[in-house]
Amino acid sequence: MDNCIFCKIIRGEIPGKFIHREGEWVAFYDISPKAPIHVLIVPTSHIESIADVHDSDGVLLGNLLLAAKKIAQKLKIDKSGFKLIINNGKGSGQIVPHLHIHLLGGWGKNPEWKV
Ligand code: 5GP
Ligand code: ZN
Repeated sequence: MDNCIFCKIIRGEIPGKFIHREGEWVAFYDISPKAPIHVLIVPTSHIESIADVHDSDGVLLGNLLLAAKKIAQKLKIDKSGFKLIINNGKGSGQIVPHLHIHLLGGWGKNPEWKV
């Protein structure tokens, strides 16, 4: 999608600090982190939100969760704990209308997380 900021990051038109980049999903650091580790897991295809997925997207959605597990392992927060959040629609706080999973963690012994 031409004017989508995440599509632009995926296409390399604006910079992103990538952790993983290939195939049907990418992972890059959030520009404004809300936790010591804050990564976005993003499908390379432009889907706005969970409200827009179809039954045929089941494999992709499963793979996004597997991606979150892999990135949590890579960043060594799989054992200490991590949170996955998907905002869907303006009323939930979604500001970038391209589906993404927030992967948050790394609070250590002083958790400051909120649901
Ligand atoms: P949302 O509120 O849509 O679920 O989350 C969008 C996230 O994208 C926010 O946490 C915000 O900080 C992040 N974000 C917005 N613009 C950029 C950008 O240009 N680069 C990166 N890496 N993250 C961004
Ligand atoms: Zn997009």
